[in-house]
Amino acid sequence: MFGVVVVGVGRAGSVRIRDLQSPQLPPSPLKLIGFVSRLVTSKFYPRSYTQRELGNINEVKQISLQDALSSTEVDVAYICSENVSHEEYVRQFLSAGKHVLVEYPMTLSLAAAQELWKMAEEKGKILHEEHIELLTEEFAFLKNEVAGKKLLKGTLHFTGGPLEKERFGFLAFSSIARLSWLVSLFGELAVISATMEEQEEKKYLKMTVNLETVNKRPLTWIEERGPGLKRERHINFLFESGLLESIPPPTQGNKNIFLKDQDIFVKKLLGQMSTEDLAKEKKHILHCMKIADEIQKYCQHSKK
Ligand code: NAD
Repeated sequence: MFGVVVVGVGRAGSVRIRDLQSPQLPPSPLKLIGFVSRLVTSKFYPRSYTQRELGNINEVKQISLQDALSSTEVDVAYICSENVSHEEYVRQFLSAGKHVLVEYPMTLSLAAAQELWKMAEEKGKILHEEHIELLTEEFAFLKNEVAGKKLLKGTLHFTGGPLEKERFGFLAFSSIARLSWLVSLFGELAVISATMEEQEEKKYLKMTVNLETVNKRPLTWIEERGPGLKRERHINFLFESGLLESIPPPTQGNKNIFLKDQDIFVKKLLGQMSTEDLAKEKKHILHCMKIADEIQKYCQHSKK
């Protein structure tokens, strides 16, 4: 059995706790030991807030970070906190000899991701970055549609509510799921240019990224965030054989995608994933990080 602590109890952390508490078939080798929340030590949160959070987590005990790091009962940490804290938590748990599952993005820079990966390899620990976007019905539909077709040009335009930079980091990292889709569908991509339109007082952001496939086909990624913007993906992929402009809504509502991600993690823990598949996944993740890094540089440069 692998003892697990969940760090950060927001939307993702709560789903992780629920999944760890639900009986699984075949039985899961994971055992929930407790959760770590910044609420336990923060003087900025009133007690009532802490209790409300605890109320959602049936019978799971809250433990301090130090106890989680030093306990021999804990073998695995799930890092489900805000993006800006991922890197440090991953580093601390790997240093303490624990396996780590981290919600995307693992870090907010390519260099940090490379360093953490090296550390995990040196320690002989699993470092798993969650990518639930690749486990959705929408992605399965696209993968199937795109197979065997020749892309001429394409656009992926995502809209959604505001995402605070201070908590979730630069947009190309916090929204790396879109890059992950594009790279999984069309292969490695090069960044041609990127710009960011920002209206701070309105909490509005629009990032426009011009990418190119290895066959020099243009792909545009637009990420637009602001109050009142619905969470939607608009696609326009022109292939030699025709145009793809819509994705059907999921029929099953994408239930249990975090659980599916956990199953992948368990396969890694149990040594059931081939070295080729592990290497392929690592390459994919680091390539997306590299693109996000480059986009950030382009956007910073265009601001000057
Ligand atoms: P959220 O805002 O609901 O939750 C974040 C939680 O982390 C909050 O409870 C906050 O109190 C806690 N937190 C913040 N800083 C902390 C710290 N230093 N130590 C401990 N806890 C801390 O956000 P979320 O949607 O749950 O997202 C969490 C992570 O999961 C993000 O990295 C996000 O990219 C990733 N993710 C979320 C989803 C989703 O569907 N919600 C999907 C994919 C990935």
